[in-house]
Amino acid sequence: MIDLRSDTVTRPGKEMAEAMWSAKVGDDMFGEDPAVVALESYTAELFGMDSALFCASGTMTNQIGIRLHCNLQDEVICHKYAHIYLYESGGIMSNAGASVKLLEGDRGRITAKAVQAAIQPDDVHATVSRMVSLENTMNKGGGSCYDFEEIYAIREVCHENGLALHLDGARLFNALEATGQKPKAYGEVFDTISVCLSKGLGAPVGSLLLGSFEQIKRARRIRKVMGGAWRQAGYLAAAGLYALQNNRSRLSEDHKRAQQMAELLSNCDYVKHVYPCETNILIFELGDKYTNESFLQILKGHNILAFGFGPQLIRFVTHLDFSETDCQKTMDVLKSL
Ligand SMILES: *Cc1c(COP(=O)(O)O)cnc(C)c1O
Repeated sequence: MIDLRSDTVTRPGKEMAEAMWSAKVGDDMFGEDPAVVALESYTAELFGMDSALFCASGTMTNQIGIRLHCNLQDEVICHKYAHIYLYESGGIMSNAGASVKLLEGDRGRITAKAVQAAIQPDDVHATVSRMVSLENTMNKGGGSCYDFEEIYAIREVCHENGLALHLDGARLFNALEATGQKPKAYGEVFDTISVCLSKGLGAPVGSLLLGSFEQIKRARRIRKVMGGAWRQAGYLAAAGLYALQNNRSRLSEDHKRAQQMAELLSNCDYVKHVYPCETNILIFELGDKYTNESFLQILKGHNILAFGFGPQLIRFVTHLDFSETDCQKTMDVLKSL
């Protein structure tokens, strides 16, 4: 099967598996797992931030980030397509007791101007605007990337208004690879950053939350109450460290393959519209010839799995286990429909 449903479907290769089995591990609840400590310090250093915390999922690192910044009656400002709002089971409300202000914006990205306009007045009737959360790349925006100038402008608005700035960087490494931006530039402007190791980087499990010493100290306690403190997590951390050290620059291959398929699809008569394809996510809209269900069924008949992403919308995500041969096979099928 060729699986284009998500970049989370990858399995560790031989070298990553070897790194896992040879990891030196200990009880992370005592802070004694050397592989976890190595991963956390490597990532903090990479972003030029004080500390990092290794967690089970990107939902957990986002939700801990939100809890760090928000309390009851506070408000999070984000795009209406944000993963933290759409796909985290109402965690903003149930974990932090916070409200959310949803903004519009081109392919999932918000602007400094829109953030400024969304800040609540100092009035007893209103919630308290407390933080802004950006997503880069933006999943539901088709893997779109932020311009650093806009991020910087949003940071200025946050500074002037005492708002924290969080990044959902589940696919930040794709954005860095596509734009040539540097991790340290992100470390400088964001208060907290969540990055995933189990998406394009190909690790089996894991995400990291980055922040200041004080924030990550508090984050450990929040992780604990979520049941997320763990023991010999070093086996997983070793996979994550391997992924960070070996699988970042190859993301450009995933981007190239997504781009090739995007070009092909834009010339197929059954496709009405192909979204701009900047990274490893490709979204396209079907015309009348196929419905989502019939299209996905036909692909499945050719041993290709994809994902329906709304009415007449199909999403492909390229990844480490989608090879050049797989890409050629997929393109042959797409041409033949
Ligand atoms: C995958 C993803 C997350 C985290 O998801 P988990 O499945 O909990 O690891 C967060 N944000 C975005 C944009 C994602 O794509």
